[in-house]
Amino acid sequence: MLERLNKDRLKISISYPPLESPFGVPLLSQNRQFQWFKNPTYIYPVVPACAATLLKNDGFDVIWDDAISEGKDFEQWLKDLEKERPDIIAMETKTPVVKRHWKIIDRIKSLQNNGWKPLFVLMGDHVTALPRESMVKSKVDFVLTGGDYDFLLLSLARYLARRDDQLEPGIWYRDGERIKYTGHFRLDHDINTLPHIDRDLTKWHLYSTQNGNFKRLPGTYIMAGRDCWWGRCTFCSWTTMYPVFRVRKPASLIEEIKALCEEYHVREIMDDTGTFPGGTWLREFSKGMIETGLNRKVTLDCNMRFGILTREDYRVMKRAGFRLLLFGIESANNSTLKRLNKGLTIERMIDSLRDARCEGLYPHITIMFGYPWEDYNDALNTLRLGRWLLKKGLAWTVQATMVIPYPGTPLYEYCKEKGLLLTDDWDDFDMKRPVIKTPFPEDMVVGLVHAIYSTAFSAEFILRRIVTMRDMDDLRYAFRGVKKVVGHLMDFR
Ligand code: SF4
Repeated sequence: MLERLNKDRLKISISYPPLESPFGVPLLSQNRQFQWFKNPTYIYPVVPACAATLLKNDGFDVIWDDAISEGKDFEQWLKDLEKERPDIIAMETKTPVVKRHWKIIDRIKSLQNNGWKPLFVLMGDHVTALPRESMVKSKVDFVLTGGDYDFLLLSLARYLARRDDQLEPGIWYRDGERIKYTGHFRLDHDINTLPHIDRDLTKWHLYSTQNGNFKRLPGTYIMAGRDCWWGRCTFCSWTTMYPVFRVRKPASLIEEIKALCEEYHVREIMDDTGTFPGGTWLREFSKGMIETGLNRKVTLDCNMRFGILTREDYRVMKRAGFRLLLFGIESANNSTLKRLNKGLTIERMIDSLRDARCEGLYPHITIMFGYPWEDYNDALNTLRLGRWLLKKGLAWTVQATMVIPYPGTPLYEYCKEKGLLLTDDWDDFDMKRPVIKTPFPEDMVVGLVHAIYSTAFSAEFILRRIVTMRDMDDLRYAFRGVKKVVGHLMDFR
């Protein structure tokens, strides 16, 4: 039987401990990928922020403790935590840093802290794929699986505080020496019941400027849904492990955007849903943005998928205030797109980019190098296509990465089954080097990533940027963009 605590007013810390590395600052709070950045980007962690808000509204004491974005070193972080003495420390983790998190948990658990014995919780995609691993390899007390770990953390806190007798499914815990769990996680929580995120509690300002997506500052993040209505790409950890798509009502999102504009004077908002909803939902939302006049106050960005939006949709989105649309191209080769289950051809993607640009939107594309089945010529096709799209202005910005097969995804299973993994050390999954065997040398994979970022220094690309500048926001955005590109070149040096 899981023991409860002897108090009902628990103090809970949602923590991102410092992770020091010569590679830079970790980007841990991005939903789908992990990277070390020389020029840091701080992404507002929306689901942990929902957890903090739910807990506070339910009467718990909550500490928002992101030592990464606050730039604290380990000693300072620990000193501050020892002063606060939370009962529970909940940490979001990812594959490349899970071993570091185990060490941190074990270190704090081994300290003699005048009777302070916090309980530790790990949550996120890696522990959803491999929950038992963390229970066995560290002294963590609980693992929360599934993407609704905000609801699960509330359930756990209520149970430990003796307010509820039942724990939600999806929670791993210890019963003496035995490891137990409460069943498979649910993905049917009604996200329309979530309160608006408490932005002050969750220190939204820490994430409001150092983010390459924002042109107008300050910016922040919201989520219209969880997580992607497509949800089938074989490399995508969130959506393959949390395959149920749910969406908030358009009116509730508009209400939140209105509050962000009026109370926090936010000028740009990125929606971090895996893929933003389309169809009648999008039209209703866009209509609401226009009718309330919010489209003139705030710029919107979102993750989008090719092939669903018509030219008319793009036109309406532009009127509603959208600027940056993030699209996953992944590869220029249709055979790879088929293997990845993208459900699209490259020709269709290019047509869609053309439509979006014609309507005045700014597509950001993501591409990857290092597929185990692509030879160097295939990879060069992707490089050439990416460069061409950037130079012609069909894509405005790019994010190039190496293919990393995260545990829990079909791509990981495929690589494991075919003996394609170069390592089973999670530390190596940090995008500093390929972890999958490729038909050409590793350094050439890194070279391709480098080469795509170098496009930003071509005369055609620079000229196009200069002629489209309209105001100081454009100038500052371009300046920050140059810094980002230089940072990326150093990241993949
Ligand atoms: S469309 Fe994007 S978010 Fe959706 S499954 Fe594919 S990669 Fe993941």
